[in-house]
Amino acid sequence: MSRIFNFSAGPAILPESVLLQAQAELLDYKGTGMSLMEMSHRSKPYDEVHMGTLSSLRSLAKIPDDFDILFMTGGASLQFALVPMNLSRGNPAGYVNTGAWSEKAIKEAEIQGIQVLDAGSSAASNHNHIPEVRLQGGLDYLHLTSNNTIFGTQWQSFPDPGDAKLVIDLSSDFLSRPIDWNHTGLVYAGAQKNAGPAGLTLVIIHKEYYEREKKSTPTMLRYSTHGKNDSLYNTPPTFLIYLFSLVLGYIEEQGGLTGIARYNQHKANLIYNALDAWPAFYLPHARKDSRSLMNITFNLANKELEKEFLSGSEKLGMDGLKGHRSVGGFRASIYNAMPEKGCQCLADYLNDFARKHG
Ligand SMILES: *Cc1c(COP(=O)(O)O)cnc(C)c1O
Repeated sequence: MSRIFNFSAGPAILPESVLLQAQAELLDYKGTGMSLMEMSHRSKPYDEVHMGTLSSLRSLAKIPDDFDILFMTGGASLQFALVPMNLSRGNPAGYVNTGAWSEKAIKEAEIQGIQVLDAGSSAASNHNHIPEVRLQGGLDYLHLTSNNTIFGTQWQSFPDPGDAKLVIDLSSDFLSRPIDWNHTGLVYAGAQKNAGPAGLTLVIIHKEYYEREKKSTPTMLRYSTHGKNDSLYNTPPTFLIYLFSLVLGYIEEQGGLTGIARYNQHKANLIYNALDAWPAFYLPHARKDSRSLMNITFNLANKELEKEFLSGSEKLGMDGLKGHRSVGGFRASIYNAMPEKGCQCLADYLNDFARKHG
């Protein structure tokens, strides 16, 4: 078996220990004689996985009691629509535009006729930094994208949203660092960047929001339907929740969210330090004060070397480094599950390549 260093932006690398445990338990889950994915979602073994995952996530991310954890489907993209559908009371909602995902969230609010207040934007500089927030009172919520997967920027800390609360798209840095619940009303994340395979969506919501729901909202599109039924109103994505529980175990082994945050900082430093050592050769996209620890974006000053850079990286067992077309060049996605040696391998390659061609 040979595993390469997978720098894909998502679906993305999973911890090897998680894949191995899933493999070992695939055919016969804990002596039941069947796979967990063949089991009723009302069965005792599944119920233990389900409830155990809810409580592990609550303790790992220090989620206060007045929040519910929801296991949903439809990706972050469905949340772009459900947030305004369930949280709007007819007042404006603030949106900070830090890139393509923020723009999609804004579009879904506008489709529903919600007045979107521009609370800050980095569009004029091709989203290379986290902008200042412009606040206004009386908002139903203030939406932001925690980590900008495509552009490689990340909020270093969240702004004070005034009299509103924050709604945060955490898709690409979920569980990569502690979450501050003080000013937060709702967070959501597709699992496929940092928390598991594609198909599971995590939502953590303050229960006070259930009061805002409208009579015309279909049952499955209401947060309360999932919250009040422990996400067992209908059949949840059982096998994905099980895999997510294994990922939670991996994070606990890394010292929880503070431990993994320290590890992520260290891993990102290896690569940023290599890029910064060759300022005439590598051009990182994100401003230094806004750099993402999850997605590192950069161009080569000499674009003619791009092909050679990519094929050289593949020869060394690194995959998925080609950049998104909005930034060009290269992107290294180094989520929780990327081992330090993958980051070291890339850092060494950056140095060697610049030494050879610089
Ligand atoms: C990947 C991503 C999305 C889209 O997620 P889907 O699960 O494909 O809908 C939204 N926001 C951010 C920040 C992302 O990284």
